[in-house]
Amino acid sequence: MCGIVGYVGKNKNSLNVLIDGLERLEYRGYDSAGVAYVSNNELFIKKYEGRISNLKNNLDFNISSNIGIGHTRWATHGVPNDINSHPHKQGKITIVHNGIIENFEEIKKELINEGIKFISETDTEVAAGLISYLYNKTNDMNKTITLFEEKVRGAYALGIICEDDLNTIYAVRKDSPLIIGIGENDNYIASDVPAILKYTDKYVTLDSFRFYKLI
Ligand code: GLU
Repeated sequence: MCGIVGYVGKNKNSLNVLIDGLERLEYRGYDSAGVAYVSNNELFIKKYEGRISNLKNNLDFNISSNIGIGHTRWATHGVPNDINSHPHKQGKITIVHNGIIENFEEIKKELINEGIKFISETDTEVAAGLISYLYNKTNDMNKTITLFEEKVRGAYALGIICEDDLNTIYAVRKDSPLIIGIGENDNYIASDVPAILKYTDKYVTLDSFRFYKLI
């Protein structure tokens, strides 16, 4: 159980918020860290095994970015390495995940039969593959998440960015913690309050199965 931080808003650089938040979640333990962020309408992913400082040293904090998701991983499926680190991307979908997808092996087989390729050993990349597969069929994130929840067994807190809407983070959870922070001109997600307390003390805890769209 490790960390998730997400930021969407107007006034801050997402990279500052993500890294600061992840550092505040270090007490939860982790083996790797990564971020996905949007800059100039393009999504970038950086992720590294080891300390958050490895990640930090490879980021340019001078760029402008109003939306991003960050993650510290505590490996459950697949060794700690750069490829298994989060975020994971499949098709138009990029996700960070805390928790365990119990039936990932059977879902992975089904998705491989549909022609989807995987490069990591993680259950999380399978979740990304399933969300991407369902989104390609429905073209609707709301329906996609409902179908995802019906299919998946296990525990998950997810931050999701879809390339068709680079102004939005989707947050969904079941049996893993995730909160939504409400700022003045921005919104946040986090696995625990300390990650975002510096920016806002208004937050809501997400009910299991509840799906939120943050813009
Ligand atoms: N099960 C996922 C993995 O091993 C997520 C672990 C976590 O909660 O960080 O990559």
